[in-house]
Amino acid sequence: MSSRLTALTTYCVVAFAVLATLTAAVYASDAVNERQQRQQVDVFSNRALLRAELVTSEADSALRQLMSYPDTPCTNDHMQRLRQVEEQFRYIREVASTHDMRLRCSSLHGAVDIALPPPEWTYAGGFTAWHTEVGKRGNERQMLNVRLGNHVVVIDPRFYLDIVPLDDTIKLTVLETQHGAVISSWPHTDDALVRAALQRTGSPYFEGRYYVVERSSRYPIAVVAYEPEDRMRRDVPAQLRTLLPPALVLSAIGTWLVLRWRRTLRTPRNAMLQGIRRRQFVAWLQPLVSLESGRCVGAEALVRWKLEDGTLVAPDTFIPMAESLDLIEPITDQVIRSVFEGVGAMLARRRDLHVSLNLAGKDLAGTRVLQTLKASLARYGVRPEQIWFEAIERTLMDTASSAPVLEAFRAAGHRIFIDDFGTGYSSLSYLQALPVDGIKIDRSFLLSLASGEEMNKIVPHIIEMARSLDLLMVAEGVETEAQAQYLRERGVQFAQGWLYAKAMPADEFLRYLEREAARTRET
Ligand code: C2E
Ligand code: MG
Ligand code: MG
Repeated sequence: MSSRLTALTTYCVVAFAVLATLTAAVYASDAVNERQQRQQVDVFSNRALLRAELVTSEADSALRQLMSYPDTPCTNDHMQRLRQVEEQFRYIREVASTHDMRLRCSSLHGAVDIALPPPEWTYAGGFTAWHTEVGKRGNERQMLNVRLGNHVVVIDPRFYLDIVPLDDTIKLTVLETQHGAVISSWPHTDDALVRAALQRTGSPYFEGRYYVVERSSRYPIAVVAYEPEDRMRRDVPAQLRTLLPPALVLSAIGTWLVLRWRRTLRTPRNAMLQGIRRRQFVAWLQPLVSLESGRCVGAEALVRWKLEDGTLVAPDTFIPMAESLDLIEPITDQVIRSVFEGVGAMLARRRDLHVSLNLAGKDLAGTRVLQTLKASLARYGVRPEQIWFEAIERTLMDTASSAPVLEAFRAAGHRIFIDDFGTGYSSLSYLQALPVDGIKIDRSFLLSLASGEEMNKIVPHIIEMARSLDLLMVAEGVETEAQAQYLRERGVQFAQGWLYAKAMPADEFLRYLEREAARTRET
């Protein structure tokens, strides 16, 4: 995937996650709000009903007290009585006396003569009620008049719903239940909705919004409370629209962080550590052939890094990196383990065969590898002389320190070869100073031998030098019979190269040996 496509995909995923989270958060807070608001509606309707009952009970008591007044109306004594009643009851603003359907005197205005308006509703027990308007022009207010017999009490209807409006989005109304007449309501309440609510039997209920109908058990009054229609829900898309720009910016920052984090994860060191953890380093085997008999005498273990997707990475690419990252030791261990798992049992049967392991500089700094190997040799019943080692010249430069280590390897029974011989600083004195069993002639020297002609002066020289020191020789990269012929004639013992076989996985190497054994039996 191109890096731009990766960035775009990551951005989409992050943006989706951010928006999904925000939407969920908005809906969740909406649900919480809604629940709280419904609780408020319950609480408000309850409190409003208590207040409405209190005001109604005052009107009821005041009118019943006045009914029992025995003397002539609108005398000084009667007026005194009216004023007393007005003062006695907190919610009663005015008390008046009627005669022949006219108001004759009142606690506030003294003697008057006003025709009584037709009542808006009547209660059982002889009560009638109507609203009147008071106050100056532009500042009019409605007053509720309740009449029983020859007396009228005037109440400010606001008292019916005189509770602190903690949430002014809630709508509250007090009605009388026989006719559905509205006694008092908070601003912007819809009378039609309230009356419809009164017709319902159950409470609370939901019909586009939440309604509560609280009926009084003492008086023919009820409180209807409801919340604004889906107020929060309607706001959700708007809230999301507001949140979209910051969410997209947030997603961009998130994408940047994710990509940076991925880059950190994909450092060579992390990739290699992961490869080690997942045991992705496996040994392939390339046969080593005796030039004399043409038969396989063993194999060189060549490491391959098998990535998750099956890709094989060649050692030239990652061995130098593993060395510089100080991760070569666990890789060497995995190669050893892989060799034994693959061909350990076969080595125990075929004592004539060996496997040659490549060692890095760090592996040659001490005898750690020997310890690791010891356990595997014992477990599989393989002899130390069946395991050879190869070390490139460069790692053996400091002969003073490498000689004792090589000595320890040889003392344990292993053979040591100098790999890629001729490409470094090889000299006779150097070879003499190192306790090694042989050399591997680097394949670059064999290129010129491809045609069988002796164009290269170095190979004969190397061969001469090795023979004089009694060293074994392995020729690397033998690709043609002519090269093999040339090397055989000059006394090189072993050869390795595509002429015989390329490096292969362990199971394939076992089949290779079986085929060879079958051929030998035939001849
Ligand atoms: P090397 O030890 O000199 O291994 C021989 C290399 O030459 C191998 O490459 C092998 O596949 C290749 N080769 C063999 N025959 C022919 C041939 O006929 N023609 C050509 N053109 N090439 C041939 P490979 O497997 O890529 O290994 C490269 C190098 O990586 C090795 O060189 C060795 O230095 C290093 N290496 C491999 N495995 C390990 C290991 O387990 N540990 C360490 N430390 N180094 C390793
Ligand atoms: Mg090698
Ligand atoms: Mg080599």
